[in-house]
Amino acid sequence: MKKISIIIPTYNEEESLPFLFERLNELTKKIESYEFEFLFVNDGSKDNTLEIIKEQRQIDSRISYIDFSRNFGKEIAMIAGLDYATGDAVIFMDADLQDPPELIIEFIKYWEQGYDDVYAKRKSRKGETFLKKFTSKMYYRVLQKLAGMEIQKDTGDFRLLDRRCVNALKKLRESQRCTKSMFSWIGYKKKEVLYDRDPRIAGKTKWNYKKLIDLAIDGITSFTTSPLRLATYISIPTFVLLGGYFIYVIAKCFVVNQPIQAFQAIILLILFFSGVQILLFGIIGEYLGRIFVETKHRPLYLINEYNGQREENEKS
Ligand code: UDP
Ligand code: MG
Repeated sequence: MKKISIIIPTYNEEESLPFLFERLNELTKKIESYEFEFLFVNDGSKDNTLEIIKEQRQIDSRISYIDFSRNFGKEIAMIAGLDYATGDAVIFMDADLQDPPELIIEFIKYWEQGYDDVYAKRKSRKGETFLKKFTSKMYYRVLQKLAGMEIQKDTGDFRLLDRRCVNALKKLRESQRCTKSMFSWIGYKKKEVLYDRDPRIAGKTKWNYKKLIDLAIDGITSFTTSPLRLATYISIPTFVLLGGYFIYVIAKCFVVNQPIQAFQAIILLILFFSGVQILLFGIIGEYLGRIFVETKHRPLYLINEYNGQREENEKS
């Protein structure tokens, strides 16, 4: 019997979990020809999330869990899930039931047809603000343009991945992760499934705009060096302008015999060029920061316990 691991990153989800257990149970009753593992990654929750998961594990042996030593963020929770998942395929799912578990039946259908990466694409986003929808749309556009490869629009992390995709993703160990672009990077045979995204069942969203913007910047800089190219593109016309202006001033001085004056023009120029330099430094700093973080080679996460076992973290 093939085994499917459902990886569920959870951070302060005590209110959603009871609903989630129920829906997962219902689902697996409908597909009895597969073995399931529900792998919860407790991402440093401050509420009773871990206790609830442990309790449920007593009743339901399909439940496994990893407990992080602190909050590492969803992206890191996802790679930890991949590291510990034992299934022939894995499915990423949010704990708040925004991803309808029933869609998994369809995922599996396509997986059996030979697709490696079956992902859910949103038709609608109920219960999300206009601003969130708009920013997300723009973000995909920009990322796609810069990356120069196809990035799936309106797609979250809700998807099924074949074991070979899992093994591929496990090899990408950078610490500032943008898993979304990694799904595109690994390639393999992809299939989209359309669905309506539900509002979260209980509790509050953990996202805020700062997190979203951080993720967006990480996404772009981890994927492509085109912003560095942008710096070059901006600097070329500036140098042309500078050269042109220089020749103009010198020529005027010699030909028309007009002394160089115009303090304002000089001040404007200084301001302009220091502005350009700041921009360039900003972009370079962005990449330097990334190099700094990556060269530390820290483990991506630390685990407090795995299925009740205390983790000593000796290997990492
Ligand atoms: N999550 C996590 N760590 C975090 C923030 C969120 O593991 O630091 C989990 C959260 O429990 C949920 C999923 O990531 O299962 C998506 O989070 P949320 O619903 O808050 O995001 P949204 O759906 O609003 O984008
Ligand atoms: Mg959510």
